[in-house]
Amino acid sequence: MKQEEVLKLFEETQALLNGHFELRSGLHSNQFFQCALVLQYPRIAGQLCEALVEKMKAELADMEVDTVIAPAMGGITIGHDVARALGVRFIFVEKEDNELKLRRFKIKEGERFVIAEDVVTRGGRVQETIDIVNENGGVVAAIGILVNRSGGKAEFEAPLVSLLEIEPVTYDPSDCPLCKEGLNLIHPGSK
Ligand code: ZN
Repeated sequence: MKQEEVLKLFEETQALLNGHFELRSGLHSNQFFQCALVLQYPRIAGQLCEALVEKMKAELADMEVDTVIAPAMGGITIGHDVARALGVRFIFVEKEDNELKLRRFKIKEGERFVIAEDVVTRGGRVQETIDIVNENGGVVAAIGILVNRSGGKAEFEAPLVSLLEIEPVTYDPSDCPLCKEGLNLIHPGSK
């Protein structure tokens, strides 16, 4: 899938909006991104995950993996679809006492993993998931994410492949060029 086609799917589902937005942080931005909105549509989500797996196979020499693991909640549908595309098992880690934990599943010694996630900004949840795999004797072969918002700053011990890279441009409201243009300010959601 070409980059323009990927972008189009995010725009058509309103997951990616262009305009003049007030973010929850109070900063203004020319873009608003809400990944859950593209994942409302299982067929589109499935297509995106297949495209991610194709890209991982093209970019990485060794995609021999046993299992996909994802951090709940955001990563669950992605992990499920990535595992389906790879034809392997899927498990997840989940929050308990504000920390990700492996609660329901077992990891075998030497089991090889792809970590799947929807969006990475700083990469904390991916790193927590890597630590859990390592602590349980598994091996992280690769990390596959739908959208990388880190501007290249998220780096891990295993190779990272992202389907789309979008870096938010934010402005202080007192010095926002979109305000100066007089563009209508949108408050996405009611958060
Ligand atoms: Zn503004």
